[in-house]
Amino acid sequence: MDQTGRIIELADGPRVTIWNEYRHEKSDENVREVYPQGIHGALAAMLKEAGFQARTATLDEPEHGLPEVVLGTTDVLLWWGHVAHEEVSDETVEKVHERVLGGMGLIVLHSGHFSRIFKKLMGTTCDLKWRLNDRERLWVVAPGHPIAEGLGEFIELEEEMYGEPFDVPQPDELVFVSHFGGGEVFRSGLCYRRGRGRVFYFRPGHEENRSYHNPDVQLVIKNAVRWAAPTPGATPVYGHYEPIE
Ligand code: ZN
Repeated sequence: MDQTGRIIELADGPRVTIWNEYRHEKSDENVREVYPQGIHGALAAMLKEAGFQARTATLDEPEHGLPEVVLGTTDVLLWWGHVAHEEVSDETVEKVHERVLGGMGLIVLHSGHFSRIFKKLMGTTCDLKWRLNDRERLWVVAPGHPIAEGLGEFIELEEEMYGEPFDVPQPDELVFVSHFGGGEVFRSGLCYRRGRGRVFYFRPGHEENRSYHNPDVQLVIKNAVRWAAPTPGATPVYGHYEPIE
């Protein structure tokens, strides 16, 4: 920040941290085969190749890999969790929440719908229905949206089914709607603003499927990182205020 309170624009693009609970990859050989470096490792490699500054953080590191020095220098945080949401400390949830309200972008992936931070930001149960091993077709329902830049009409994946109703607030923008082989539909790409921060929920990424190796899924994540990055500007002033003139 400079002396006038403006945030100085970063020359090198958004600084991304990929957070992963990193349990399935350690305990399940099939998952390890799909993501030998972990889901976080696959996403970091993909983002680095695209020229982003990317680093990783995992649940079992001290402070879950998100000490002040990391969170304070993260422009966009990606979040993947599934079996250990309750192991994330109150302190980390609070700190991430505060950073989002202050402008940090947050991209919540797949089973992160039940993460403590997403539920806190949404204020609802974030519940849904599910079934393994289906075919997903994600339709772009917001052509021209920056998160859909470069995509065709839809993306097709072998995936876990998530079905509506998805108990989340109405999004500001809906980018993808999925159709599954079993007939269910699901809102798969949801944009929210919370405070100064942007939040994007993106559905694909079941640990046994190969979705994060799919080039279209990777493109969505790269686009979402650019979309979610903070916009530089004056720090908001609240409370009693003297007249300007
Ligand atoms: Zn899953």
